[in-house]
Amino acid sequence: MSTGSTVERHVIVVGGGTAGSVVASRLSEDPGVRVTILEAGPDHDTYDDAVLVPAKAAAAWAGAVPSAPTPLQLGGGRAIPMFQGRVLGGTSALNGLATLRGLPEDYDGWAASGLDGWGWDDVVSTFIAAERDVDFGSTPLHGAGGPLPVRRWRRDELSRAQRAFYDGMVDVGEPVVDDINDPDQLPGLGVFPVTIDDDDRRVTTSLAYLDDGVRARDNLTVRTSAEVRSVEVSAGRAVGVVLTSGEEIDADEVVVSSGAVFSPALLMRSGVGPAGHLAEHGLAVHADLPVGETMSDHLGPGIPYRHDGPRGGRAGPAQVLVIGASNGRNVDYHAFPIASVPSEDETVFMMAAFLLRSSGRGSVRLGDTPEADPVVAAPPLPDDAEARLRHAFDRIAAWERSAPAVALGCTPVTPHDLAAPDAVADALERNTMSYGHMTSTCPMGTVLDADCRVLGVDGLRVVDASVMPTIPSGNTYLGCVMVAERVAEKMRSRPWRR
Ligand SMILES: Cc1cc2nc3c(=O)[nH]c(=O)nc-3n(C[C@H](O)[C@H](O)[C@H](O)COP(=O)(O)OP(=O)(O)OC[C@H]3O[C@@H](n4cnc5c(N)ncnc54)[C@H](O)[C@@H]3O)c2cc1C
Repeated sequence: MSTGSTVERHVIVVGGGTAGSVVASRLSEDPGVRVTILEAGPDHDTYDDAVLVPAKAAAAWAGAVPSAPTPLQLGGGRAIPMFQGRVLGGTSALNGLATLRGLPEDYDGWAASGLDGWGWDDVVSTFIAAERDVDFGSTPLHGAGGPLPVRRWRRDELSRAQRAFYDGMVDVGEPVVDDINDPDQLPGLGVFPVTIDDDDRRVTTSLAYLDDGVRARDNLTVRTSAEVRSVEVSAGRAVGVVLTSGEEIDADEVVVSSGAVFSPALLMRSGVGPAGHLAEHGLAVHADLPVGETMSDHLGPGIPYRHDGPRGGRAGPAQVLVIGASNGRNVDYHAFPIASVPSEDETVFMMAAFLLRSSGRGSVRLGDTPEADPVVAAPPLPDDAEARLRHAFDRIAAWERSAPAVALGCTPVTPHDLAAPDAVADALERNTMSYGHMTSTCPMGTVLDADCRVLGVDGLRVVDASVMPTIPSGNTYLGCVMVAERVAEKMRSRPWRR
């Protein structure tokens, strides 16, 4: 296909989600590049209150925002629904708005595994440049000039349960941290930073990076309701894509930014993946790579509570948290109350304890046919999960007895004894939850090089949560922004053909 244009190269970005919006915006700053976003879902001008009003985020998880629900298989025949945004802005349009970076040792681990340019000292400058931190402004750890407006929930915005959690944890001795993105202050109790604007509305990455000014660029095309079926690979090079409608579009380079579930599925449908698995589906193999075989996520038990009404507040679902260290030193869990999903009864909430630093690996595999929804298996919890979560349970048990929790009338929905030896195992059996942090399904190191180029296929990159070699010890959306900013910079500053 001829582009009929004088521009130097045409890049297709498959998925205008969290990372794809950033990549497309940054690449199209260069008039020598023509960029086409192909997004399966609708445009961000279809956002309604379910997207934009933080307090309605739990409704977004329950399906009020266009999403692709994919069951997350937990083993033993159990599965939980997992919603991923299917709309411009992707999962940044339905997530809990928490804006955390992870820890220096996460990224130093990436660099130590041979991925030059991904250590903490490299990535922290990108985190800083991406934000406009309304609370801290420009400091050695924060930025004042980036596209993402960030602030922390104010006390008057907190729901009554979140306030009782915060106050109760203070009462039982949890140290208060005023900036939970400052690794030197952890572990402790803090308030979630969130990406919301001056009118207290959610800012998805598409709103931040693909505003009207950016979309007016002659070299940027944003196509919504455009689902890509496969990437066309010829003679070891990506040459374009095929949409589910049958339409074919040529490109000089294809960037797959379809998220940690759908990027590996798209690669496999395109003949890039484990040869044996592709052969089971009769797919030609262009590159035999462990796509989908090393999925990570943060999992943990949820304990349902209810309290005397009303709910109060107007913040998002996750407002305050304990960032805990089960060995007293190294942060390895988040514990916090989270709005119930879904619930008519707003005074019901879930106390979640999510384990960080978990090396178990799950998988994403093709379904019965290449076009069917992929099958997603959660990573197993590590052998020491119960022992580490015991620390979180002891803190929650102490909080349960605190004056603020008692004053609010917080009671477990199902009677329990959190001090019982099998309390953690019981809670995991009853209610294992996912933090929604699926990553590492097309990781740098085994599937991609350090510039996120697919090994063995020229002109093809993956840029989203899939690329993370290990999952950061925090929420993952901001990490996707950081990865996208850095890869776009690499694409702009280096020769693009191998
Ligand atoms: C319920 C929930 C709550 C969360 N809360 C938080 C939180 O509070 N803080 C945090 O940091 N993280 C949170 N996360 C995780 C975080 O939001 C994600 O890690 C991150 O947004 C993923 O970004 P991505 O770019 O990898 O994918 P996405 O943002 O999901 O983007 C993928 C895009 O690709 C599109 N797409 C998929 N397939 C195709 C195709 N074949 N053709 C064309 N387009 C396609 C999709 O429609 C989507 O727009 C949460 C996740 C969930 C599920």
